[in-house]
Amino acid sequence: MVYSANLGYPRIGFKRELKTALESYWSARISQDELLSVARNLRKNNWLLQARNDIDYIPSNDFSLYDHVLDTMTMVGAVPKRYGWSGADAVDLQTYFLMARGQTLGETTNGARKETHALEMTKWFNTNYHFMVPELEEDQKFSLASMKCVDEFLEAKNLGILTRPVLLGPVSFLYLSKGHSFALEAKRLDSLLHVYCQVLTKLRDAGADWVQIDEPCLTGDLNDKALFAFEKSYVRFHEIGLNVMLTNYFGAMDSNLHWVLKLPIQGIHLDLVNGMGDLELALRSLPPQMCFSAGVVDGHNVWRTDLSARVVQLENIAEKIGPKRLIVAPSCSLMHVPIDVDAEVELDADVKPWLAFAAQKLRELSILTDALTVGKTSVADELAKCDEILQQARSSPLRQNDVVVNRIKNLDSGMYQRQKNFVDRIREQQNKLNLPLLPTTTIGSFPQTKEIRKCRQQLRARKIDFEQYKVAMEKEIDTNISLQEKIGLDVLVHGEPERTDMVEYFAELLNGVAVTQHGWVQSYGSRCVRAPIIYGSVLRTEPMTLHWAKFAQSLTSRPVKGMLTGPVTILQWSFVRDDQKREDTCLELALAVRDEVGDLERAGIKIIQIDEPAVREGLPLRRSEREAYLDWAVRCFKLATCGVKDETQIHTHMCYSEFGDMLEAIAAMDADVISIEASRSKMELLDDLKDIDYPNAIGPGIFDIHSPRVPSEDEIAALLNSAAAVLAVDRLWVNPDCGLKTRSWKEVVPALNAMVGAANKLRLHQGDARAGQLGQAIDAR
Ligand code: GLN
Ligand code: ZN
Repeated sequence: MVYSANLGYPRIGFKRELKTALESYWSARISQDELLSVARNLRKNNWLLQARNDIDYIPSNDFSLYDHVLDTMTMVGAVPKRYGWSGADAVDLQTYFLMARGQTLGETTNGARKETHALEMTKWFNTNYHFMVPELEEDQKFSLASMKCVDEFLEAKNLGILTRPVLLGPVSFLYLSKGHSFALEAKRLDSLLHVYCQVLTKLRDAGADWVQIDEPCLTGDLNDKALFAFEKSYVRFHEIGLNVMLTNYFGAMDSNLHWVLKLPIQGIHLDLVNGMGDLELALRSLPPQMCFSAGVVDGHNVWRTDLSARVVQLENIAEKIGPKRLIVAPSCSLMHVPIDVDAEVELDADVKPWLAFAAQKLRELSILTDALTVGKTSVADELAKCDEILQQARSSPLRQNDVVVNRIKNLDSGMYQRQKNFVDRIREQQNKLNLPLLPTTTIGSFPQTKEIRKCRQQLRARKIDFEQYKVAMEKEIDTNISLQEKIGLDVLVHGEPERTDMVEYFAELLNGVAVTQHGWVQSYGSRCVRAPIIYGSVLRTEPMTLHWAKFAQSLTSRPVKGMLTGPVTILQWSFVRDDQKREDTCLELALAVRDEVGDLERAGIKIIQIDEPAVREGLPLRRSEREAYLDWAVRCFKLATCGVKDETQIHTHMCYSEFGDMLEAIAAMDADVISIEASRSKMELLDDLKDIDYPNAIGPGIFDIHSPRVPSEDEIAALLNSAAAVLAVDRLWVNPDCGLKTRSWKEVVPALNAMVGAANKLRLHQGDARAGQLGQAIDAR
């Protein structure tokens, strides 16, 4: 008898019911009871679906109204003081959402915003899911402050389903907290474990026999302190007498595995999709009674599982450890994949069978389990069908386009280098562009107004045709250009009205990349994204942005930037094929972007910006793998951008991350100008840039576009001055810290006026300073 397990199911609902309910609740259109009832229904449907697929270990507490790390914070009462929680009762829903979203409380007399800041958000390991970062006070005490885990266990039990509750493990919780180096202190750990033990005891008393404890920090580099914390935690948990399945995912545990296997736990889950390296040691050293959960179905990507190959692998494992201890599972929670591929009626019919979303993956788990328990013949049809589809996929011309394959084969080193170095290039560029000192520009997008969105919906619904859509977008671009001229910006943008999303826009136009209609995956809270699927050779068959860029440039004598998304970012924000290396797919994307860059240049566009906001996110979890990643990421960016003449100016833009630890790689990308988010960290980045002697031109984001507050001219001037004190003034640009598409025009116009005003002020000042120096020189003669 082999068992099946699931580690987590998408919470948001196929129709994004949770999103709708949350947003209605936040805007007071539905009551708390109504919200909770939607949530209950989603959980019920998920449980029943898993039961129908004969999953033996069905998770509970994998659901969350916002985020599972936030849930853990409330479970242990780690609520920062500013949220005003009494500490006496359970954390209520208002406090919960206040932590998640913050609140604006009006303005103070000097115009500054009074607000309660939300918790920070950051990426959940190497996924595109964002969790709320726990903030622990210096003297943090923990207390049991939410019974969600027990309540949901009982909720399922009432439906007749005995679940395996999921908890984020205590060490990973501390590891993910802000400033985690001090977070592992013994006293703090004791207090935290006390709460965990209370919860586990309650679960045991409620009738649970297993609990799934997620410790994904095991995929990272851990120090001795962490090891000690693990020992301490799991020895304590052992005393409670509940079976613990310790789960790790998103990679191998490597050197951590040998001591993890010595912990007093009853089961261990390994990611056998991304962490195959762990298998051998695990099989060799698995203690006699320990269960083994084999994560063989990819929970982090959309591809169909090679069932036959996995059956063979599972049979081997069963032979070594005995079938009774074996559990078939997805590599990680299925929350990172869309829900149901059957709903995708517009997907390329050749590609669709290659895919398995969450619902299909449940089915795969059940087929694999049957193959081992009942025997292969019981699922012979399914295995044969799967073999056939995979065979088709392997030999499909969509996978291997000869043109692309040959181009990749024939890449030569010259294609990765500009001809001259930056100092000579910038001179040639300046001869053409004739820009003033401290050139002003924006990052690309302007407000995506209701009208723009409506127009796109009409095009999608075929209520208007493409010609009508084009006319409407051109009108937007026209308005954007005149407005920027009026404000006095030096380098203009067309405003990106035609783009829903900076990756999806290109995905729709590239061969080898599919977009879905319903493939929503939670990004954070109520926000979902539909990541494109890169399934084959990436090929640009015609220009993607040329028309809009040319049109915009035809309206003005000032330079308008061509605007593209970079290869690394497209890769990072897509589901990527798993039959070739990520870097090879990235090279294909780079060639597509390179071709577009070439077309723009030939059409007379003098400045081209290639955005790479996601380059930092691709950094591997293990330090030892980082250099190799940065190496190919930089190479791909250069392949995309280095095909131009030296007089063409290449810009890039980065945001959403702290870049302090990869500035050398950024310098190696050799963009002529980079605009980079810096305003929230109060220009800390500048010191880092100075330290590495950043060689090219740079525009540190001078105001925070994430805030609705309009910055004053003086404020911006002060920031500009501090930038000018650290960086060479003649290499300094003036720009906001990201695109303006989420803002309203009411905020954008005054903010840009202030920015241009501040730049003008500083130019005058700089002019005076230079004249002053000149004066002194003359006096000295
Ligand atoms: N050019 C894009 C914009 O302005 C860049 C967005 C981003 O960095 N995320 O919207
Ligand atoms: Zn940005």
